[in-house]
Amino acid sequence: MKPADQNPAAHHSTVELSNCKLYLRTDLSFHLQEYQGAPCYLIEDEFNSRFYRVGIPEYQLISLLDGSTTLAQAVSKSAAQMGDQAINEQDAITICKWMIDSGLASTDASRTSGRLLESFEKADRKKRKAQINPVTPKFSLFNPDAFLTSLNMILGWLFSFPMFLLWCGVVATAIYHVSANWDQMTSGTMFFARDNWVWLGLTWMLLKIVHETAHGLSCKRFGGDVRQCGIVMIVMVPLPFVDVTSSWRFPSKWQRIFVAAAGMYVEIFLAAIAAIVWSFTDSGIVRQHAFNFMLAGSLTTLMFNANPLMRFDGYYMLSDWLEMPNLGTHGQQWIKWVGKKFYLGLDQKQPTWPEGRGWIVAVYAILSLFWKVLICAGLAIAAEALFFGAGIALAIIAIAMWVIWPIGKLLKMVFIGEETQQRPGRIRFCLLTATLGISMWSVFTQVPWFARVEAAAVVDYQVSHDVRSPVSGFLERIYVHSGQLVKQGELLARLENRELDVDVEKLQIELVVNDLRIRQLREREEMATLDVETKNREAIETRLNVRLEQQANLDVRASSDGIVVAEDLESQVGTYLAPGHKICTIESEANKEIHAMIGQHDVELFQQRVGQDIDVHIWGMGGREFPAKLKDVNPRGRLDLPHPSFAATAGGALPVRYRNPSQRDSDSDETLELVDPHFFARLELSHAPSATLRSGQPGFVSFRASRGSIGDVLSEKIVRWIRKMRRMQNGGR
Ligand SMILES: [Zn+2]
Repeated sequence: MKPADQNPAAHHSTVELSNCKLYLRTDLSFHLQEYQGAPCYLIEDEFNSRFYRVGIPEYQLISLLDGSTTLAQAVSKSAAQMGDQAINEQDAITICKWMIDSGLASTDASRTSGRLLESFEKADRKKRKAQINPVTPKFSLFNPDAFLTSLNMILGWLFSFPMFLLWCGVVATAIYHVSANWDQMTSGTMFFARDNWVWLGLTWMLLKIVHETAHGLSCKRFGGDVRQCGIVMIVMVPLPFVDVTSSWRFPSKWQRIFVAAAGMYVEIFLAAIAAIVWSFTDSGIVRQHAFNFMLAGSLTTLMFNANPLMRFDGYYMLSDWLEMPNLGTHGQQWIKWVGKKFYLGLDQKQPTWPEGRGWIVAVYAILSLFWKVLICAGLAIAAEALFFGAGIALAIIAIAMWVIWPIGKLLKMVFIGEETQQRPGRIRFCLLTATLGISMWSVFTQVPWFARVEAAAVVDYQVSHDVRSPVSGFLERIYVHSGQLVKQGELLARLENRELDVDVEKLQIELVVNDLRIRQLREREEMATLDVETKNREAIETRLNVRLEQQANLDVRASSDGIVVAEDLESQVGTYLAPGHKICTIESEANKEIHAMIGQHDVELFQQRVGQDIDVHIWGMGGREFPAKLKDVNPRGRLDLPHPSFAATAGGALPVRYRNPSQRDSDSDETLELVDPHFFARLELSHAPSATLRSGQPGFVSFRASRGSIGDVLSEKIVRWIRKMRRMQNGGR
């Protein structure tokens, strides 16, 4: 007796299946490929957009299933043709079960049971849903095959090996220049120029068209055909698309990977050329556009196209490389299985796939789930911020589709149930949901978020010494000019005070007269009067000394080394100066400090840090940070700029506006003021050599602090970001 006969049920089903006639779906297509070094066939289920891979013997058997041949007949026919390599009856049954399960073939029985019908209907529903999908509707425009065929003749060399070597050289050069100018590039002033958004959008669109053309061209080059192209709307942004699914039939996986990579390949090449142009030109407008190309061609390309966690180019490259064509679908199946088994407590068999390597599927599934959550949140926020009313409606639709709909389905399954299913563990579900909810809630409200608190900063002179007139007088002469370097004690100006001069003369005469009288009294020996006169002399002498000192002070001298700074020194000559009148200031070149402007939001955190070291980052110092002691924070907010370098219009970090709209024409810094009040703070430069810093160099100061729980900070950040986007849309207002 054969071992299989010991199990009557198995035996029974074997007999049943051996005698049944299988119909292979007629709309499937088969392509010969290589898989892990061995030839194999790719089954393309165009209707369900699925791909399956089978070996040559399996294919040989499958191709015999025409609806009139029984499985037993097919097995024996196959054995006659293939000999030793042929599939045995037991394996043939497994294959047939798999084909029925995946909807590739049907028996009379499975057809009547409606399984196939159901799977067709399901796919049909899915297709219709994709068409009316309001978030990503797709419009096919024309057949680009003829165009690409002629383009291939002209530009086909773009995908040759010498071009690849050139590509490597250009990209390496670009990376070198970008890293050398990293500070300048990330300072962000160009990116936020007001009308650049339009240009950036146009550049991006142009690059996307080039990108899609590259897919089509490379597909043509390897002999595929491109049947349609058109526009797909992603969150109301129209994007071009080219259908290169025919590349799936290429026998080599490296060719398929190349077609998927071709778009990025060309985009990165253009971005690299733009980077080189950017670093070699001084023309503002050329730099601006080169920067746009760089940004659009590298950042968005790497973030979206290269990212394998979304169904873009990166995904197809990865799944091809791993030789797991349904990685994404299998990942979803795996997530569903985990959910059903562990969340609902259903007794489900772990799904297995012909490619094996289940751990790759699991890792991929978890990563892409996280990414999906992130992207959903990001899209909802971006839509809200960018499109206002329409954006909110769009965000609601997206959230309904991606969040509410699946949750609704889950709840229905748990509490109402489906006929074919076991009863899910409702208590387990509720307990797990509650635990998950409570733990998430406590993470969001209890765990503090340690974030970097930042404020815009500028290197400036230490609050400088004012040179004031020590006595009253007319300004007779000025010996220096604004910007002149002076030494301590150097003569700056001379005042004239006639009254003082007269006083001194008078007192000097009085002293002489007094001396004469004292001599006379001493000769007459009138001791009592002599005593009075001596005291008198002392008084005169004291008064004279005061006056002489005042007279000496008519020469105004520098109290320290430094640079003379004054607005209109010359015009003061000849004017009367009261004591304490400011003539000029002397700014000491060696004593620079860091001045920071703190936003209202952070001022309390900075005040708690007074007396401690915080980090200073000055642009143009190669990204190095150094500590500096926070000296004080002025508790009064101000709208005026302590230094013009703070203004966004001058490359600083703080948004500014015209103080008086009618003064818009006069382009003076005087008319600019901050949009929001900021608080002035000073930092001591004790650790860094202040001589290496230039006055007016911008940067920022920062430290780590907790401002509240993760939830508080996240919601606050989002609100602030939305406000910022709105402000930019309103033209910096
Ligand atoms: Zn692409």
